[in-house]
Amino acid sequence: MEIRHNWTQEEILEIYNKPFMELLYEAATVHRKHHDPNTVQVSTLLSIKTGGCPEDCGYCPQAARYHTDVEGNDLMSVQQVKAQALRAKSSGSSRVCMGAAWRNVKDGPEFDNVLEMVRTINKLDMEVCCTLGMVTENQAKRLEEAGLYAYNHNLDTSEEYYKEVISTRGYEDRLETLSNVRKTNVTVCSGGIIGMGESKEDRAGMLVALARLNPQPESVPINALVPVEGTPMEEQQKVPIWDMVRMVATTRIVMPETQVRLSAGRTDMSKEGQSMCFFAGANSIFAGDKLLTTPNPDVSEDMQLFKELGLNVQKPFEKHSQRETIEAEDSVHQSLGEKPRWSRPGHKIEKNLEAQAKRKA
Ligand code: SF4
Repeated sequence: MEIRHNWTQEEILEIYNKPFMELLYEAATVHRKHHDPNTVQVSTLLSIKTGGCPEDCGYCPQAARYHTDVEGNDLMSVQQVKAQALRAKSSGSSRVCMGAAWRNVKDGPEFDNVLEMVRTINKLDMEVCCTLGMVTENQAKRLEEAGLYAYNHNLDTSEEYYKEVISTRGYEDRLETLSNVRKTNVTVCSGGIIGMGESKEDRAGMLVALARLNPQPESVPINALVPVEGTPMEEQQKVPIWDMVRMVATTRIVMPETQVRLSAGRTDMSKEGQSMCFFAGANSIFAGDKLLTTPNPDVSEDMQLFKELGLNVQKPFEKHSQRETIEAEDSVHQSLGEKPRWSRPGHKIEKNLEAQAKRKA
């Protein structure tokens, strides 16, 4: 089946709105053509630098400006990360995704440490992914040299609705970061969140933006908002499972070769709900009891469900080969000491301002 890059919002919406059973059948059929339906990739998400983020993402408890219970932590050491990666490996994860609550990567000792973490995990023969905010082309190349397998940078929602969620950066910077990563051999992971008050049109809009990328992202995480007290979205209703299944199925149909990852919000899904998502084309999950700062099912529960469904865990590097690790002293791409000017639209988002004011009160 040919991969299409010219999807329109109307076409995607039409798929999303199909009768449920028809949608499920179609998605499962596409899934079977492109993937082994009984294999699921398991990643572990590790927060290597938590909280204190200068951004104002309305869904995020790590934004310094909101009053949440998240305890901030400085950047972990390479040794700490190695210990956690080994733990993840022994419990069945093939990939470690390291997240830092940064607006963008800054050249300097902290980034050098992250590069060392990438080298260390790659040498453990695990896929290594980073989510560090905006990156320049040179920074992406340095990550590639260290052996990075994937870079995550979510579009979150449609370009139109993005303005209702975040005021400290623009959609075009997200796309530019994805294009910087594409100038390397690092695979792209980019998806979004549903349940933030967006319309179905916005959900389709996000999928248009992702599906039109050429090549399409190798991995697309679909998150259900976990409303956290103190954030502007604390009162959002939880996403109905039907919406989650529809979103997964539609993603599968428009991006047939992508690994669709069931991400945040799994603790609120029943085993049957998660199984429907697997049937509809989800073939990756995050394992571990925490997803950055929000709860996630216990690994043993996941493995029990896999056993029940006869699912196998995907081996590392099954989809793309392992990158070579180049040591710091042999790198071609050195720090340029860049000070990139990522945009800062700065428009007013009432909900975000209200949550911020509560913190001051
Ligand atoms: S989502 Fe990322 S960039 Fe946004 S506030 Fe949270 S940590 Fe910062």
